[in-house]
Amino acid sequence: MTCPYLDYRDADGEQEFDHERPYCEIQGSFVSPMEADLCNDRHDFDHEADCAVFQRHHLDADQLVPGLELQDAD
Ligand code: SF4
Repeated sequence: MTCPYLDYRDADGEQEFDHERPYCEIQGSFVSPMEADLCNDRHDFDHEADCAVFQRHHLDADQLVPGLELQDAD
């Protein structure tokens, strides 16, 4: 299954490309063709297991900052 955050775009702002390029919606940037293999789960890749960007995006806020405890200021 392809990562749901993978898009293909044929332009970047005003610059148009002659072919579509892989774009990660979480990172807000284009990814390399090699990274797109991971995004497309090609060659035994699994984006849920192998992509740190995907994993960080799906972590709970508590897991993003280990050890941080929000305390009431009162
Ligand atoms: S870089 Fe990761 S999160 Fe972004 S589209 Fe590819 S697999 Fe998905």
